[in-house]
Amino acid sequence: MIKRAIYPGSFDPVTKGHLDIIHRASKLTEELIVAVLQNSSKSNIWFSVEERINLLKHSISELDVENCKIKVIAFKGLLVDLIEREDVDVLIRGLRAVSDYEYEVQLDLTNKQLTKKEFETIFLNSSRKYLYLSSSIVRDVALHKGELKYFVTDYVKKELMKKVDEMNGKK
Ligand code: ADP
Repeated sequence: MIKRAIYPGSFDPVTKGHLDIIHRASKLTEELIVAVLQNSSKSNIWFSVEERINLLKHSISELDVENCKIKVIAFKGLLVDLIEREDVDVLIRGLRAVSDYEYEVQLDLTNKQLTKKEFETIFLNSSRKYLYLSSSIVRDVALHKGELKYFVTDYVKKELMKKVDEMNGKK
């Protein structure tokens, strides 16, 4: 059993693909830190860090988690600094199609170069259902008023629709 693992990402917003990884990771570790990246290089961020944390907390509360303490935090700066600060043993990442692989390996090698702390990276393969699911696809579907129930929880769906109305100036 792993003592403390971290699952970092942008989560803009959290999808059922992320939740599947969180649920599966929760079976491997005593404690799971879900870390929401604040200084994302992504330009098209819809939700503030506070909103993304709220969406995550809400969605995680609906998961059937047994013996794992899950906390959701925001983080700025280098992931390795957080890994050292929080004394993390394992970094969890989700892998979808081959397209994720190259980026993930690059990221992992860079992290390992930057840190003195020994930690392992565990890649969890995406479940078949969520193989092609990403937050950006979800935002696109929301923008065009498509059905979101397969991709996100009801709460996230509601908040996404609110966000689209806000962006369209409806409030
Ligand atoms: P990032 O900005 O790090 O890409 P994301 O929120 O897009 O953040 O993803 C966080 C992590 O979750 C990454 O490891 C990503 O590969 C993984 N992930 C995202 N969507 C899925 C999915 N549908 N199935 C499995 N893993 C996923």
